[in-house]
Amino acid sequence: MKRVLITGAAGFIGSHLCDKFIGEGYHVIGMDNLLTGNLRNIEHLFPNPNFEFYHHDVSKFVHVPGELDYILHFASPASPIDYLKMPIQTLKVGSLGTHNLLGLAKAKKARILVASTSEVYGDPLVHPQTEEYWGNVNPVGPRGVYDEAKRFQEAITMAYHTFHGVETRIIRIFNTYGPRMRLDDGRVLPAFIGQALRGEDLTAFGDGSQTRSFCYVSDLVDGIYKLLMSDYAQPVNVGNPDEITINQFGEEILKLTGAKSKLIYKPLPIDDPKQRRPDISKAKAILGWEPKVNRAEGLKLTLSYFQSLIN
Ligand code: UDP
Repeated sequence: MKRVLITGAAGFIGSHLCDKFIGEGYHVIGMDNLLTGNLRNIEHLFPNPNFEFYHHDVSKFVHVPGELDYILHFASPASPIDYLKMPIQTLKVGSLGTHNLLGLAKAKKARILVASTSEVYGDPLVHPQTEEYWGNVNPVGPRGVYDEAKRFQEAITMAYHTFHGVETRIIRIFNTYGPRMRLDDGRVLPAFIGQALRGEDLTAFGDGSQTRSFCYVSDLVDGIYKLLMSDYAQPVNVGNPDEITINQFGEEILKLTGAKSKLIYKPLPIDDPKQRRPDISKAKAILGWEPKVNRAEGLKLTLSYFQSLIN
């Protein structure tokens, strides 16, 4: 049985990865310090003998007994509100945490995939974003703690690949949504759905003309799995290129929920990217991957999850 370590296992994406690898017949070792993760997301796996859980902060030395075939590093605060509240932990998990896990991968001769982000492109001046674009990041702005940690993560991952010959994979994840997102993580989707369900007005930041492109979590997980199994060590964008403005997105949520609320406007956070859409030509060509779940379908599934939380 192949053994995989998943960090951030109790988080939104990490917990879906645990399900995926259990389903594919792996022995899964989940690790999380529960800073932003929640055991509720993985408690259904605890009775499974092929699942183990370590409550540990990967910014400290990581010890895992036995062999490891794969490591997936998904531990990090990942919503703008979270990394504003936890700037030092965010910097540490992306830098020290990644260093520890690369060391573990080297010692175990395991292949490691690290979760990078569209935030490496900052407030992008090239649109849509291709992997060749180097980005437009403010290192000392509020988002710098996340963006620069992830940029360092990519650099050290590539250095372990070229200098130590570790098998590495880098995925650049664009906005992703689905069940197990936190209703209070401050991101636009849980914020809008939560507000609509409570009959409150939806808070669009700025004038709502900024764009995002939302990928349903099952598509992302599929892309992660395909990249891990590929032999491609350069970064690959994974996301859904279907781009909309925050205003349009708010209207969709109002229609979907049937809420009588309206959009209201709040100040735009500092360095909030004006536009974001992945160029997924590489994922298509190298992994044979593209998203399958459209927003209408994905939003319905996500809404049912949030309704079950609230009721
Ligand atoms: N946003 C918004 N209202 C909210 C939360 C977010 O208008 O209540 C906007 C935010 O300013 C950004 C976009 O929605 O332009 C996506 O924000 P999110 O926090 O989901 O993630 P980001 O893509 O900025 O990392």
